[in-house]
Amino acid sequence: EKTQEKGAQEEKIFVSVRLRPLNAKEIARHDMSDWECINDNTIICRNNLAERSMYPAAYTFDRVFRCDCSTKEVYELGAKEVALSVVSGINSSIFAYGQTSSGKTYTMSGITEYTVADIYDYIHRHGEREFVLKFSAMEIYNEAVRDLLGFDSTPLRLLDDPERGTVVERLTEETLRDWSHLQELLCICEAQRQIGETSLNETSSRSHQILRLTIESSAREFLGKDNSSTLAASVDFVDLAGSERASQALSAGARLKEGCHINRSLLTLGTVIRKLSKGRTGHIPFRDSKLTRILQPSLGGNARTAIICTMSPARSHVEQSRNTLLFASCAN
Ligand code: ADP
Ligand code: MG
Repeated sequence: EKTQEKGAQEEKIFVSVRLRPLNAKEIARHDMSDWECINDNTIICRNNLAERSMYPAAYTFDRVFRCDCSTKEVYELGAKEVALSVVSGINSSIFAYGQTSSGKTYTMSGITEYTVADIYDYIHRHGEREFVLKFSAMEIYNEAVRDLLGFDSTPLRLLDDPERGTVVERLTEETLRDWSHLQELLCICEAQRQIGETSLNETSSRSHQILRLTIESSAREFLGKDNSSTLAASVDFVDLAGSERASQALSAGARLKEGCHINRSLLTLGTVIRKLSKGRTGHIPFRDSKLTRILQPSLGGNARTAIICTMSPARSHVEQSRNTLLFASCAN
C-alpha cells in the first residue's frame, strides 16, 4: 500500500452520511427503519444481516450521523472545517446528495446559515483585515442555468474567462451588508425556486441549486498599496437534484430528455468526484456538464470538498439508500 503524503490527505474529500428519522408518512404506513449507525463511522443495514443479502451489511465513512443528530452537529463535524477554509483564501464546496425527501435541503440550509454566522464571527475577531462578502445563487435545470436572485428568468450562459475560468454571464452578485441581508436573499431564492416548482412540476427534486459565497479580504495596513496581502475565495453550497433521477434517467418516455440532462450533471459529478478522490492528477472531465463547469473552482485545484449523503431509514427506500451509499463509497 502506498502511503499518502500529508498534503494529499488534507485534500481528500470528506464524506459523511446523515440518516433522517422516519417521517409521518412512513410511520403511517408501518414502514420499518432498517438502518443503524453503530459508531461514528459505520452504518449497517439490519435487514441485510437477517437475509444474508448479496449487498454489504456495513458501510464505513469519515463520519455517519444518527437520525437524532442536529444539523448543528452535522455542520460542526461534517462541514465546518472545509467551509471555513474560505477565510484563508482556499475555495471549498459542500454538497448534499441523496434521493428526494431524504433531507438535502433541510441539511444544506442549516449548514449555509451556520457557516455565514461563523464567518461573521471570524470577521469580528479579525479587525486587522477588511472583509467583503458577496452572495449569488443559481439553479441548473435541464442543463439551463437560472439566476435565483435576478428578475430575468432567461437561461444564463457560461463564458470562459482566461483569468477567472468559467464565469456565469449576468449572474446577480449581492454584496452582503449583514446577517439579516443574507436571510432576505435566502427568502428570495426559496421563492424563486417555488415559482419554478409550480410551473415545472416539482423542480426542486429535478434541479441542482448552488449558493455561492465569495470572501475578499485585505490587511487594513496595506489597503490600496499592496495587493499581495489580498485573499479571495468562495465556498459553494450545493443542493443536488434527487439522486433517484440518475437511476431513472435511462427509462424511456416523455421525460427522457430531462432525465438525460439531470443524469449528465449527476453522472459527470460522480465521475469527477471519483477521480478527485483518487488524487488530483490526470484528466478530470469538468467540462462535460454545466454543474461541474460551474463548480470547477470549488472542486479542482487545491479546493476542499465535503459531501453529506442524506438517506431515509425506511425499508421501502432501501434500494435508493444503497445507491446513495454506493455513491458515498466512491467519493470516500
Ligand atoms: P430533500 O431536499 O432531500 O428532498 P427535505 O430536506 O425537503 O428533502 O426533507 C424532506 C422533509 O423531511 C422535510 O419536511 C424536512 O423538514 C424533513 N427532514 C429532513 N431531514 C430531517 C431530519 N434530519 N430531521 C427532521 N426532519 C427532517
Ligand atoms: Mg430539496
